[in-house]
Amino acid sequence: MTMIDVPPPPTPGTAPAAGVCDSVAELIGNTPLVQLRSLSDGLPSRVLVKLENRNPGGSSKDRIALNMIRSAEAAGDLAPGATIVEATSGNTGIGLALIGRLTGHPVVIVHAADISDEKRKVLLAYGARLVEADWDAGPDDAANPRALADAIAADIPGSWRPTQFANRANPEAHYRGTGPEIWRQTGGAVTHFVASIGTGGTVSGTGRYLREASAGAVRVIGANPQGSTYGGDLPGRILVDGVGTAWPRDFWPQTFDPAAVDEIRTIDDREVYRTVRRLAAEEALLLGPSSGLAVATALRVASEAPAGSTVVAIAPDGGINYLTKAFDPVWLDAAGLGD
Ligand code: PMP
Repeated sequence: MTMIDVPPPPTPGTAPAAGVCDSVAELIGNTPLVQLRSLSDGLPSRVLVKLENRNPGGSSKDRIALNMIRSAEAAGDLAPGATIVEATSGNTGIGLALIGRLTGHPVVIVHAADISDEKRKVLLAYGARLVEADWDAGPDDAANPRALADAIAADIPGSWRPTQFANRANPEAHYRGTGPEIWRQTGGAVTHFVASIGTGGTVSGTGRYLREASAGAVRVIGANPQGSTYGGDLPGRILVDGVGTAWPRDFWPQTFDPAAVDEIRTIDDREVYRTVRRLAAEEALLLGPSSGLAVATALRVASEAPAGSTVVAIAPDGGINYLTKAFDPVWLDAAGLGD
């Protein structure tokens, strides 16, 4: 394990006075980029991780929640005080609940039975109403998450469905925010970009911006979990929260643009969870499983890339939400993921 040089703390009183934000919405985006030291030891290239858990709702989904709500308000699809109804594994729900609270929209979240307890409690704390759906139910089944969300929305006059898997404001949030931030933060030195694929909004929007900014030089890599079909495998059980797809058993996300991605890599669950634990233990970065997936992929990419490359990986959320899963030896053993 590599020891990491930690600078001395700043002298109290010498930091510039912090400005005052109108609301926490102003804190969305401009997340930090941190260089890995221990996990990338011996590699010929830099691996940088973008910490999306630093958004106020704790994930990259704050970006799309803000952009989807503002775009719908501007388009006249979401009237003042109207209810927002969305089916989500959790993070988009947290982003919507947070922005909904700030903008005066009640929020109903349709979620999976296995949502972590922490995420459920955060949603309730932001005042969202929760409804459980069956994530394995087919599109024609009333318990299917999207069918259930549609039915709930049909019962609430004036309600609006963001449909994050089909909403252009999702990839657009990353094209306008995440991509330019990475380009600026690396001074244009980024050569490879890695993001785990859920709706595909992050990899498509950020990837498209970085390609354009670099005149096609940046290579874009989608990180895919075991059990997902993005990499061409048959659908199976997905053990990494918030990512992967069961297509063609389920729908194809319109927010994922395969043309924006050069390559998709599928990573074994054990490697994903080992990487999550190493990030915490060696880099002091407490991150979620999809961050482990992206970082494990980025480390492989960095080991094969020309020396001196700069590989940037997105860490979509933090580890606090997974203390009873990714960081619980009992859960890991039950899932066959302990070491
Ligand atoms: N990680 C987590 C924890 C997520 O919730 C999501 C979004 N579903 C992603 C990664 C993937 O991001 P995107 O939807 O932009 O592909």
